Amino acid sequence: MAKKTEELKKMRSTHVPQAPYNITPAFIREAKGALMIDTEGRELIDFAGGIGVNNVGHCHPKVVAAIKDQADKCIHTCFHVAMYEAYLDLAARLNALAPGDFAKMTMFANSGAEAVENAVKVARYNKNRPAVICFENGYHGRTIYTLTLTSKIKPYKFGFGPFASDVYRMPFAYCYRCTFGLNYPDCKIACADYLEDFFISHVDPEATAAIIAEPIQGEGGFITPPPEYFPRLQEIAQKYDIALIIDEVQTGVGRTGKFFAIEHWGIAPDILTLAKSLGGGMPLSAIIAREEMINKIHVGGLGGTFSGNPVACRAGLAVLEIMLEDGLLHRAQTLGEKVLAQFQALQKNHEIIGEVRGKGPMLAMELVQDRETRAPAKEAADKLVKFCFEKGLVLLSCGNFGNVIRTLMPLVITDEQLERGLSILEEGFRKLKT
Ligand code: PMP
Repeated sequence: MAKKTEELKKMRSTHVPQAPYNITPAFIREAKGALMIDTEGRELIDFAGGIGVNNVGHCHPKVVAAIKDQADKCIHTCFHVAMYEAYLDLAARLNALAPGDFAKMTMFANSGAEAVENAVKVARYNKNRPAVICFENGYHGRTIYTLTLTSKIKPYKFGFGPFASDVYRMPFAYCYRCTFGLNYPDCKIACADYLEDFFISHVDPEATAAIIAEPIQGEGGFITPPPEYFPRLQEIAQKYDIALIIDEVQTGVGRTGKFFAIEHWGIAPDILTLAKSLGGGMPLSAIIAREEMINKIHVGGLGGTFSGNPVACRAGLAVLEIMLEDGLLHRAQTLGEKVLAQFQALQKNHEIIGEVRGKGPMLAMELVQDRETRAPAKEAADKLVKFCFEKGLVLLSCGNFGNVIRTLMPLVITDEQLERGLSILEEGFRKLKT
């Protein structure tokens, strides 16, 4: 188990296809908190958090203890074969936490894509309608259905069609690049009202089961709608008896300083999805829905072999304890304030930063070649990510143009690690000018 980096590289190209891409060339031997140690013994500061999975940090002692304890007792029964307490405890906690003054029920799956698939099944079953409306710049996964919902051709969709039917995509509240050429707040959220027009020219509301949206579009570039957006969208959805599914796979579990990001908009969706950080690194996702909707489905209609595995559920319970009882959610808010201040300071000094956006520590900078034209600066984003890696900071870009730098650092990152990471980032921006 201690092969040299060169050998690992060779094995990577010999035995594993190229399609599962690698953002960095690193092989990791150990990771703790917000630090990873690679096979060269290099210490890497992690601003990627395993793409939003490590909100409580790598190998949090409470998560490790829960996993070890459960592994000693029982690793797997399959919930459909024989039940166990951790599944029920976690479901009960999530039902109590989810926004909305109505009864909820939760079931588990393994990945974000699976959670979204199940959410759509719940909506369709209840509404008995085929269509789903999704959004430009949205990302919901890589299964054929969730890929249909996903809004980026290369690399995600290219070559994998045909896609699912009855999926309709409308523009999102991307204020920095408004599809309607308007400016907030004078626009009066025309992009949400556009749903009414959409029903005239794209899809019959009476054929629409659900609207699915991310509160902040993650892969699409941390696109953060104005406060009125989701309330308005929900109002229109309710008028036509359409379910609102909010995909919190990337935004949930404290990423934005609230447990569910949608709480920032003050609405309670009919169906919520969670994954990524929920299992503290274990594969675990959740579908939280109105009781009358999800419990209407016939016995045996939903499920899966590994869904809600006991070890993953125990890890999930530990994550909730860390987030809520140990105060990590509060720490997320102060972390967000610090990072935001630094990003805003960077923006003052670097013309290339067109916009700083996000909520809590889910923050991003959109890079542009020119602040007037707003032409995307993808090459600069790629250079920055590469430079930072060479200096020991793992950073991710995102956005349909690949020109957005985002932060998904573990919320347990220390002030010293944060400062170190941010100073590498700043050095990267200075370097771009030379
Ligand atoms: N929804 C959102 C909002 C996501 O960000 C992602 C993953 N980036 C997914 C769904 C899919 O999750 P998974 O990769 O676990 O299937």
